[in-house]
Amino acid sequence: MIKKISDIFREKERTFSFEFFPPKTQKGVDRLYETADELNRLVPDFVSVTYGAGGSSRGATMEICAEIQQRCDLTAMHHFTCVGHSQKELKNIINQMHDNNIQNILALRGDPPKEIDNWQPAPDEFHYCYQLIDLIKEIDKDFFSIGVAGFPEAHINCPDKETDTTYLKMKIDHGGEFVVTQLFFDNAVYSEYLERLKRAGVNVRVLPGILPITSYEGLIKFCNICGTTITPEVHDIFQPIRDDNESTREAGIEFAVRQCRDLLDLGAPGLHFFTLNKVEPTRAIWERLGL
Ligand SMILES: Cc1cc2nc3c(=O)[nH]c(=O)nc-3n(C[C@H](O)[C@H](O)[C@H](O)COP(=O)(O)OP(=O)(O)OC[C@H]3O[C@@H](n4cnc5c(N)ncnc54)[C@H](O)[C@@H]3O)c2cc1C
Repeated sequence: MIKKISDIFREKERTFSFEFFPPKTQKGVDRLYETADELNRLVPDFVSVTYGAGGSSRGATMEICAEIQQRCDLTAMHHFTCVGHSQKELKNIINQMHDNNIQNILALRGDPPKEIDNWQPAPDEFHYCYQLIDLIKEIDKDFFSIGVAGFPEAHINCPDKETDTTYLKMKIDHGGEFVVTQLFFDNAVYSEYLERLKRAGVNVRVLPGILPITSYEGLIKFCNICGTTITPEVHDIFQPIRDDNESTREAGIEFAVRQCRDLLDLGAPGLHFFTLNKVEPTRAIWERLGL
């Protein structure tokens, strides 16, 4: 049954969710639906689909969310960035979500184009995520459940963690109902983040984002872009086996299982897996967790 995530939270103390990205080809999209069918057997509470990240087509997110909801009877959350869209375009897309019964939005600013130094939005564009939240609320304050991105190590362009916390609080004060975090590998970083948010008066659920490591090279590239620290532990495990795909895959599963168990013991209100559109290793992690 399709639900608002805020309603799922009322029913469940912990949620488990899977994130997908829109593939570039129709064949890839068809494969993604097979993956969603497979992962649906694990009975996740919801799935999410990214928007425009990595150069994927933006329109595909809505199509995939709508199809997954119909085909799998599974709640889908539409990631939605405001960068590069006029307010009129944003309104049109939000209205289309409404028409497609997509009630859950991960509201995001998005990354400005890399080639532009000192990016400033055009006069009819938004600068920050909280403005997009205002627009969603203005269109229909009851229909949508809104999540926001959180950065336990602070957003890469933010001067420090306290400032990052202030901006996160703004997103919640404007209507963000929960947080999905950027990946991190040190659970103490997550605990400290929760403490900081609590001190700032943020009391919403903070779902940790979990990336199963499948490639050390890929990890370094991604962490350089998003600012996640590769801890000495991660380096020591994965650097020596960087050329051995099978060992990396197995070590990635083991590491994620340990990290997830510890997070749940710390009281995390669920887990959000970045699946990279693959059934494995997420399924293996899930099965070993025994959830
Ligand atoms: C779980 C998750 C999912 C994501 N999914 C996608 C996706 O699908 N597609 C995609 O393109 N990207 C995605 N991203 C990346 C995200 O779009 C970028 O990290 C983006 O740069 C920040 O988005 P935001 O919503 O946090 O922006 P904001 O909260 O608006 O912050 C943007 C920047 O402005 C600063 N800031 C915020 N408010 C203010 C203010 N009031 N005054 C001054 N400065 C301020 C912040 O410190 C930050 O540096 C995702 C990130 C996460 C963690």
